[in-house]
Amino acid sequence: MENRKNIKDFTLEELENYIVQNKLPKFRGAQIFEWIYKDVEGFDQMTNLSKDLISKLKQDFYIGRAEIEVKLVSQEDNTRKYLLKLEDGNAVECVLMEYNHGKTICISTQVGCRMNCAFCASGIGGLTRHMTSGEMLEEVMAVSRDIGERISNIVLMGSGEPFDNYEEVIKFLRTVNNQKGLNVGQRHITISTSGLVPKIREFAEAEFQCNLAISLHASDNPTRNTLMPINKKYKIEELIEACKFYLKKTNRRITFEYALIKDINDQDENARKLAKLLRGMLCHVNLIPINKVEEKAFEKANKANIDRFKSILDTYGIEVTVRRELGSDINAACGQLRQQYSEGKK
Ligand code: SAH
Repeated sequence: MENRKNIKDFTLEELENYIVQNKLPKFRGAQIFEWIYKDVEGFDQMTNLSKDLISKLKQDFYIGRAEIEVKLVSQEDNTRKYLLKLEDGNAVECVLMEYNHGKTICISTQVGCRMNCAFCASGIGGLTRHMTSGEMLEEVMAVSRDIGERISNIVLMGSGEPFDNYEEVIKFLRTVNNQKGLNVGQRHITISTSGLVPKIREFAEAEFQCNLAISLHASDNPTRNTLMPINKKYKIEELIEACKFYLKKTNRRITFEYALIKDINDQDENARKLAKLLRGMLCHVNLIPINKVEEKAFEKANKANIDRFKSILDTYGIEVTVRRELGSDINAACGQLRQQYSEGKK
């Protein structure tokens, strides 16, 4: 793609700057932006622009697209899992889920991941590279194109650590939220992090109305250290302090994700510790029966333990739900589809 840039990597403001630098009226920037998110395939379809501007755009930009490499559709609940091929040949996963309140897409933010959580397939091959904001936008657009429908909710819970790719993720949020673009409301977007404390604080100050989810998965440091290496850098106490700071700044409820793993973090004592840790916070706990990853030895907690864990949190007055398992018939856990794909190519 020589020197041309992916136009989806440009925010509206950046496009307007480009236009002004080229001595054209600023509103042309918004017109171009609108066409991009109406999903035109080429610049020639931007019919309200002059021929000269179109040829200038062709010189400077291309419209980045991803190809659907694999698509799996659940027979049970219509959950769809996609493997998308990016322009450089790398592949990322995203998942489309149907809820009563609309369609939700779970997107990846990095190719691979460097967090190396013990139970997760995304980190197995390490980090290949960050994704650009334009590539994240294209995840939403490629799936929307495939189903022929608008997608109203986005969760950043696919492969990658969003806060390890902070700037591109912020750019993505601003662009996807723009009313002239895909217009997805901030309250319909959830960012999930493994706990990069300084970025949680930075995000708190950035005044977004998005939802924040924290992958906690343990209520004591020794257990969390073994599950999530990031905990060796930022301890649970620091993480909780950062969450309290976020709450003070935004007054938006935080979700704590807790994947229940047999004999590791599913005991009564773990639940009581969790309740004490979160007491008094505006939060919600999402208990997730862990997905089996072939390469990993962890087992799902059994139903009785899950129920007991939940009822202990209930007793302490902590808001808690057990995540419904969607698409279990196509259930390659996070990162597994890509993992299988890259193995198949070896
Ligand atoms: N890096 C971010 C977002 C991607 S992971 C984060 O850590 O939050 C999205 C969620 O899936 C996280 O809560 C992660 O801990 C969880 N997850 C990863 N592997 C899983 C598995 N095998 N079973 C259940 N949840 C898993």
